Amino acid sequence: MDCILTEKNKLADNIYDFKIKSTSLAENAKAGQFLHILCGGNGYLRRPISICEVIDGEYVRFIFQVKGEGTTALANANVGDTIDVLGPLGNGFSFEECDNVIVIGGGIGIFPLLEVTKRLGKKAIVLLGFRSAENVILEDEFAKYTDRIFVATEDGSCGYKGYITDLMRNILETNKVDRIYSCGPMPMMKAVSSVAVDKQIDTQVSLEERMGCGIGACVTCTCNINGGRKRVCKDGPVFSASEVEWDA
Ligand SMILES: Cc1cc2nc3c(=O)[nH]c(=O)nc-3n(C[C@H](O)[C@H](O)[C@H](O)COP(=O)(O)OP(=O)(O)OC[C@H]3O[C@@H](n4cnc5c(N)ncnc54)[C@H](O)[C@@H]3O)c2cc1C
Repeated sequence: MDCILTEKNKLADNIYDFKIKSTSLAENAKAGQFLHILCGGNGYLRRPISICEVIDGEYVRFIFQVKGEGTTALANANVGDTIDVLGPLGNGFSFEECDNVIVIGGGIGIFPLLEVTKRLGKKAIVLLGFRSAENVILEDEFAKYTDRIFVATEDGSCGYKGYITDLMRNILETNKVDRIYSCGPMPMMKAVSSVAVDKQIDTQVSLEERMGCGIGACVTCTCNINGGRKRVCKDGPVFSASEVEWDA
């Protein structure tokens, strides 16, 4: 569908925050689903970008880092332009009742977790990991929904010094946790999974793979799940951590 870009902000070097208007997207979008976006010119394949937030039942927000040709073209869009979006796609996070939840994200993987945190509110302990203080973003926005929010940076320039997964291990020693939601770099999610599976905590991870069609037809984005191959776009991007074969 064609959606009007109604708001555009630059959050940091190479990180853009877009709000598009579409009641139909906003009414149907679930946390963890993604949009497949035609980024501009020259017949590029669409690019998958997570839904960061649904606003007022009318708008969808997504945030992206400029990486290559597609996201560079997208970053050149201006307020008032039309953006061609396929979505919402994929299976989002599921929210069966539980009381004690960790939401853990790293780098640009934190974006889909804002809508997750919005939904969980004070049940959530939010853990956000970044390389350094200058990469820390959206902390204030997560803090609107829960007061238990912790930041880690690898160089210690903001919050806990070290990996966010080390902080998660510490928190698990003193807190009862029933579920974990995670999105971020593969090594981070692998570490989250190994702790979670060990402690038998129900854990959902959102995987990232390079993608073609986004609707399950081209089978470009498969990954190893539970002894077979599953499509990140159609069967995921959210999977149970216990099913993911991280080293396969
Ligand atoms: C389900 C899903 C949700 C995503 N959500 C977001 C999001 O909310 N915000 C965001 O900034 N990015 C997100 N991404 C990653 C985003 O799709 C890629 O960064 C984007 O497609 C790069 O396109 P490009 O044309 O700019 O770069 P390209 O020229 O295609 O590539 C530039 C660099 O990005 C790497 N790259 C490209 N696609 C991927 C990918 N899918 N996974 C990992 N590395 C990739 C390439 O290896 C290369 O190093 C998501 C990916 C998936 C699969």
